[in-house]
Amino acid sequence: MTDQCESREARILIVDDSPMSVRLLSHYVRDMGNIQFALSGMEALEMAAEYLPDIILLDVEMPVLDGLEVCQELKQRDALKDIPVIFVTARTGAEHEVACLAAGAVDFISKPPNEPVVRARVRTHLTLKRQADLLRELAAIDGLTGIHNRRSFDERITVECRRHRRTPAPIGIAMIDVDHFKRFNDLYGHLAGDACLKQIAEAIDTTARRPGDLAARYGGEEFVVLLPNTDADAVVRYGEYLLERIRELKIPHEGNELGIATVSIGVTSGEPVADGCNVALVSLADEALYEAKRSGRNKVCLREFGE
Ligand code: GH3
Ligand code: MG
Ligand code: MG
Ligand code: MG
Repeated sequence: MTDQCESREARILIVDDSPMSVRLLSHYVRDMGNIQFALSGMEALEMAAEYLPDIILLDVEMPVLDGLEVCQELKQRDALKDIPVIFVTARTGAEHEVACLAAGAVDFISKPPNEPVVRARVRTHLTLKRQADLLRELAAIDGLTGIHNRRSFDERITVECRRHRRTPAPIGIAMIDVDHFKRFNDLYGHLAGDACLKQIAEAIDTTARRPGDLAARYGGEEFVVLLPNTDADAVVRYGEYLLERIRELKIPHEGNELGIATVSIGVTSGEPVADGCNVALVSLADEALYEAKRSGRNKVCLREFGE
């Protein structure tokens, strides 16, 4: 998994149509993070999308696209809506403050800005943003294994299916289930079972390394891997490769045929053409997994989409 929340330097975007104001605000927060700036509303939206700042200091009074409009636009985009916006405004009055908050700002600073006030507000909202990022990340992680959880997988496959419908390409799915794992627990105990699952999860995670790949614990001793742009041949090859990686771990399992822990894998690949393809793909991979179990375990079976 990516550790976005490791203490990397905060990214601060300063937006103002006056270069003087930009210079001043940049100076005030100079040691608080990596600073970028934009001199118009349009530029601010482009910069935000490209640079994904942790906080935006946004001038309200700008020609063409003003700060309120920029903020409303940011709040409508999934990738940008969680970035805290602090308005910097020369206007005062309760009505204006309410309009700023209604546009989605977390706070505002009045012009001319005062250095300690700017620093205190920025510090507070950077801390809150870091905590919110951490919570979002934790909500996507499986507690035992540290890889993605089912919820995270469900979210990602929905997004991928939508994306693949715009630019058609096959999506591959691999469903993985540990063989005779109940016996493993019975033989070695539940704690050893947990350790075994962790090792297998890590091995699976390291095989899902292309951009867009995602490995998740689907539940119990079952895992799933999402492989965008992967056709049937490639997903079968991936499955065979993964089988080998798991056998190479050589985790002793006397209740299993080979004397080591193995997995069974069901794979599928298909181009999402209609709503609900995410569900269809997962259930095909599940059927293929059942087939792999029924026909002897420690193998890969394929069910093609549209068969
Ligand atoms: P099969 O080869 O058909 O998959 O057999 P199996 O024994 O692996 O399948 P079954 O579904 O009968 O048993 C799954 C076992 O996985 C039972 C359950 O206790 C164990 N299990 C599920 N989650 C965990 C976990 O988090 N830790 C441990 N130690 N065991 C778990
Ligand atoms: Mg201005
Ligand atoms: Mg199972
Ligand atoms: Mg099992």
